[in-house]
Amino acid sequence: MRLQVIGDPVLHSKSPLIHTSMLAALGSDMEYTPHVVRRGELPRYLAWARENGVTGFNATMPHKEDLLPLLDEMDPAARAVGAVNTVCLREGKWMGFNTDGGGAVEALRDGLGIDPAGLTITLLGAGGAAKAVALALSAAGAERVFVCNRTLSRAETLCAQDPLGRLTPNRFDAAALGRCAEQSQLLVNCTNLGMAGCPHQFEDFSFLDALPRDGAVFDLIYHPAKTELLAQAECRGLKALNGLPMLVWQAVLALEHFLDRPLDRGAMAAVATDALRGAGV
Ligand code: NAP
Repeated sequence: MRLQVIGDPVLHSKSPLIHTSMLAALGSDMEYTPHVVRRGELPRYLAWARENGVTGFNATMPHKEDLLPLLDEMDPAARAVGAVNTVCLREGKWMGFNTDGGGAVEALRDGLGIDPAGLTITLLGAGGAAKAVALALSAAGAERVFVCNRTLSRAETLCAQDPLGRLTPNRFDAAALGRCAEQSQLLVNCTNLGMAGCPHQFEDFSFLDALPRDGAVFDLIYHPAKTELLAQAECRGLKALNGLPMLVWQAVLALEHFLDRPLDRGAMAAVATDALRGAGV
């Protein structure tokens, strides 16, 4: 029984470190390794994996959407998001899951003590991560999620896909961000702005002044550990959380799928977090 993470590039992935630490804590001798799979090579990989004892894998760029037509079954979250990050071989069938959104909700609960139920939330971005997180926040009972995106049409498309109708598309300019933030208790950044290697940054942070004094900011980015957005939030006395707990929690949920049994999630998250800290992440 082997587990893998596939992608291109994939060798930089933190998933082997996270999963290996959790498997070791469970006393499992399963291995979890990175495997480069280029775009277009998924059918060949699936056949190889089946023949070589791979019973589950995580998928990262560029495969999360391309896997869909190749799977036998999908869970509702993966179907709604239109992307999978976790695939398991069960009774000969490839089953797809998406744990990104659930990981974000668990990270909010664990890292900030925030339950999205009943909250109004401003969410920045409408890419792949934004879609998973926005739909998960809606499913977790958020009252309203303002989805603010530079390309408004992408926000509109995303919001139209929420079966609960709790997502509202908005522009990304300072006025729109301020109007949404003043009605929100939580702001979630799902854009690339502030990420290491991204040449762009927020033009101004005045929208943070519109959040209530006990408001919170969750940035999906974890490299750097403290983005300018989080630094600016902390300056204003707002609670702040980076994307590392989401990375950890999506892996905990993925491992439950791989092993097909419930785990002590908190203990697993603690083990993975320690492993990342030990590696200087
Ligand atoms: P993506 O699909 O490429 O989406 C990028 C988003 O950022 C889009 O909404 C895009 O807007 C917006 N954007 C990019 N440049 C911008 C700019 N200059 N001004 C305003 N908006 C801009 O990427 P993704 O996969 O969703 O990832 C987004 C972020 O989430 C990345 O930083 C990634 O590292 C992070 N992430 C973290 C985790 C975790 O576990 N912590 C998991 C997944 C992703 P347009 O639609 O207008 O282009």
